[in-house]
Amino acid sequence: MSEPLLIRHAGQLVTLRGPEGPRRGAALGDLGLIQDGAVLMRDGLIEAAGPSNEVETLARETGHVVELDAEGRVVMPGFVDSHTHLAFGRPRLVDYEMRIRGADYHQIAEAGGGILSSVKAVRGAAPEDLETQARRAVHQCARHGTTTVEAKSGYGLDENGELKTLVVLAAIDGQPLDIVSTYLGAHFIPPEYQKTPDVYVDWMCQEMMPRIKRQKLAGFADVYCDRGAFTLEQARRYLSAAAALGFELKIHAEQFTHSGAARLAVELGAASADHLEQADSEDAAILGRSSTVATLLPGSVFHLGLDRYAPARTLIENGAAVALATDFNPGTSPTCSMPMVLSLACTFMRMSPAEAISAATINGAHAVRRAHRVGSLEPGKQGDVLVINATDYREIPYHFGVNQVAMTIKRGAVIYQQGEVVNHTAKENAADAR
Ligand SMILES: [Zn+2]
Repeated sequence: MSEPLLIRHAGQLVTLRGPEGPRRGAALGDLGLIQDGAVLMRDGLIEAAGPSNEVETLARETGHVVELDAEGRVVMPGFVDSHTHLAFGRPRLVDYEMRIRGADYHQIAEAGGGILSSVKAVRGAAPEDLETQARRAVHQCARHGTTTVEAKSGYGLDENGELKTLVVLAAIDGQPLDIVSTYLGAHFIPPEYQKTPDVYVDWMCQEMMPRIKRQKLAGFADVYCDRGAFTLEQARRYLSAAAALGFELKIHAEQFTHSGAARLAVELGAASADHLEQADSEDAAILGRSSTVATLLPGSVFHLGLDRYAPARTLIENGAAVALATDFNPGTSPTCSMPMVLSLACTFMRMSPAEAISAATINGAHAVRRAHRVGSLEPGKQGDVLVINATDYREIPYHFGVNQVAMTIKRGAVIYQQGEVVNHTAKENAADAR
């Protein structure tokens, strides 16, 4: 176990302390800011978070602590990225170029690209290679300030491919990030079931889910409900079977077409309804009256060059608990940068910087049912903390595409520290002097 750690003199300590439950409405913009704040961590947990003088006094009373001066910078909870598909084998660069040149989904698929190429890659991957790729992805997440990451299966689809993915995710859990695993067998209808999708749904419900549950390989089940994927009735059947087995539920809802999946999420008590680009004001009202988190994924809209982002303002005005996540995947959102997602949310969805930070931390934690452990800086929660190279939290979305994470701390231990830029001029000068 690491030594007790005190971070003092945060110019802005973003605590996100507050009442239980996800942030909604005006509360979404309340970051629980403390000027000149400090955090004390011990045995991986937060012991105190508050004004520097109070926390320092407490730290001195308790013997030896490692001290770290934030020098007036922003200190905040680690990001909770509550929607990713991070174990995918390899990037889809041909798709990317084809789409830039104007090819559509069908043309890309005909050229051997699209989601089927990821299915092929994952089915054919040696488990150790898939694990190496997933580990690299997780390290990128850590560099960008994510400390808890949800990760889905869904590129294997068959028994071997799905189990291989979930076993890889279990192997990397806690190394160093917490992984929340989700079974997404219902990502896409596999080629061998194109004509008999209901048989595939039955097989997942009767064979795969009980097995995954027995082996404790995933706590969540998710379904992609949209045109060309699973119908609302198939989604209902799949999620009802999952709930009966004790899985928590998530739904890919209202991404390209309006299917009614957001309402299904509420009806079944899902932890989250994700995407929601096509959600209407009635969906917003229904989500606003529910405990289902509305998880928005602007990265895929941006990468695909589309212009219809989820109606964040309507959702917030209706009281929905909005979360933000990367949707990290090789086809539509190849980024694990939560800071970039915040920039997109502010610019394109008109969320305020404070709302975006709440959505990416405490509300993300609610979307993966871990808010009792992560998402805010409060005594008893995990010591998952970021030091940001900024003196004002608004700089995080403002400097888009710039990673300002100076340090990522997971369970009270530093897991990432930003490297210094090497001063080549000075080196050359030194060489000249010799
Ligand atoms: Zn997704």
